[in-house]
Formats: sequence, C-alpha cells, structure tokens
Amino acid sequence: MPCTIRARGPAAPSSRGTDSSAGVSPGAYAQQMDWVTIRRTPAALAAASELLSEYAGEAAVLGGGTVLLPMMHRAEITARHVVDLRGLGLDTVTEHAGHVEIGAMATYRDLLASPVLARRAPLLPRMAAGVTGGDQVRNLGTIGGSACFANPSSDVPAVLVALGVTLRVHGTSGYRDVAAADFFRGAFTTDLADGEFLASLLVPHRPGRNGYHKLKLCEGSWPIVTAVATIHPPGATSSPTRRTAARWPEWSPAVPSPT
Ligand SMILES: Cc1cc2nc3c(=O)[nH]c(=O)nc-3n(C[C@H](O)[C@H](O)[C@H](O)COP(=O)(O)OP(=O)(O)OC[C@H]3O[C@@H](n4cnc5c(N)ncnc54)[C@H](O)[C@@H]3O)c2cc1C
Repeated sequence: MPCTIRARGPAAPSSRGTDSSAGVSPGAYAQQMDWVTIRRTPAALAAASELLSEYAGEAAVLGGGTVLLPMMHRAEITARHVVDLRGLGLDTVTEHAGHVEIGAMATYRDLLASPVLARRAPLLPRMAAGVTGGDQVRNLGTIGGSACFANPSSDVPAVLVALGVTLRVHGTSGYRDVAAADFFRGAFTTDLADGEFLASLLVPHRPGRNGYHKLKLCEGSWPIVTAVATIHPPGATSSPTRRTAARWPEWSPAVPSPT
C-alpha cells in the first residue's frame, strides 16, 4: 500500500491545538493534546522495521525532523511512536563499483562535504547548496527525509529520478530496491509500506552533464517547480538524454522521451 503522509484533515475544534490568542485557554489547549509521543531508538535496522510494523498507523520515522517535528507541533501529524533512525549508521556516503551508496540519514551538509559525490554525482551537492533554509536545514535535513516527504515542490524527488537513483527500502523481510521513478507515487505519497523505511540511495555512475533549475517565488521560498536535464555520452546509458520536471499541483516526476 502506498504510504501517504498522515496529516490531520481540516481543523476540528475538539482535536486540533489552537493558541490562546484565538480564544482558547492554555488549559483547554492541553486537554486537546490527547496523545503522548514516545521516541523509539532502535539499535538495528531489523528492530526499526519491527517497531514500524508493530505500531503501523501510529508511528512516524524521524529523519532530521525539520518537517516532521513542526508538523507534529501543529498537530498536523499525530504519532504515538517516533522511530529515530539516528544511531543506525545510515549517514555515510560510500563508493562502490558502479554506484555510490548514500545513507538515508546523510544530511545536505554531508552531501556538500563528500568528495565522492563531487566527483561522481555533482548534481547532488549542487542541489544541496541551493536548498532554502540556510545552515539549520542543511545541517539537519536528510536526503532520505526529503525523499520520503515527497513534497512535489521540493528539490530532491526530481533530482533522484533524473539521476536514475534506486531507493533501498528496509522492511520486516529485509531489503527491497525501488527505482526513484516508481518510489514517488504522487504528491506526499511514496511506495513505502507499513514496517518499511528508506535505508539508502544508490546513485549509478553515469558520466554526463547536468542542467538544473528551480523556480521560486522569492529567495527564501521553497521551489514551485524543479527541472533537471541530464545528458550522457553515447554508450553511458540506454537513454542518452533524460529530463525530469516536478510540476505542481498535478505532479509526478516525469521522464519524457529523449529529444
Ligand atoms: C525553512 C525550510 C526551508 C526548506 N527549503 C527547502 C528547499 O528549498 N528545497 C527543498 O527541497 N526542501 C526544502 N526544505 C525541506 C528540506 O528538504 C527538509 O529537510 C526535508 O524535506 C525533510 O528532511 P528531514 O530529514 O528533516 O525529514 P523529517 O522532517 O524527519 O521527515 C519528513 C517525513 O519523512 C519521513 N521520513 C524521514 N526519514 C525517513 C526515512 N529514512 N524513511 C522513511 N520515512 C522517513 C518522516 O516520517 C516524515 O513524514 C526546507 C525546509 C525548511 C524547514
């Protein structure tokens, strides 16, 4: 079943936090917070999947928390269990024959600091440098969190599809690999099922050149459209030219026919 961010629907007076300036006393606010969140810190990938499976529908994965925690604070997501992936060693960038593996917990800062990515996939550090939000977001936000949030107006989904990245997902039965083009099922919706989380991203070695542009309303806004073009020399890939654009609001990352 595709995973959609479980946000609460339209504000319900009895269940959604409202500040006192809107006429609700602090006591009434506390009464509306009718759940308690427990932070879970699994020490192994299997334990993380077991927690997510056991508490399916009540659990959220914590990446950098730059999106999840504000949404929980606003009661747009209610999670009784937050499964914290820190401590699982998922923040490394490793070069293999044929691909680079990026741990899902690698931050934008990690992408910027990686000499492997600078050489093998320079589009990723280029993208990370352009993320709005400054050092706070770059130091905390993870590539995995951004992929799993699947915000159609963010930078990561289009870039992953354009680079032909494979997403390595971990569940109760172990790993499975999903092409980026299949991982993003729609706005804020991914291919993740109950018990699964994103463990790493595999970026194939493909020599070529990239073009990248995002349209923003102003310097400090999130992008509203992200467009990527990758051009590979003959023989580097079966599709000599790949292009991807993320469109809002009717969005899915698309790979048009080569031109
Ligand atoms: C001020 C500000 C400006 C920003 N500007 C931009 C911008 O210009 N471009 C852009 O692309 N993005 C931007 N972002 C978003 C940024 O990319 C976030 O860092 C990212 O979307 C979320 O990353 P995170 O690691 O903090 O995820 P979290 O907030 O921890 O999680 C986000 C969602 O993904 C889930 N999740 C996290 N990790 C995993 C995992 N490994 N497996 C399964 N599910 C997981 C969480 O449960 C949650 O639903 C901005 C954010 C802020 C706060």
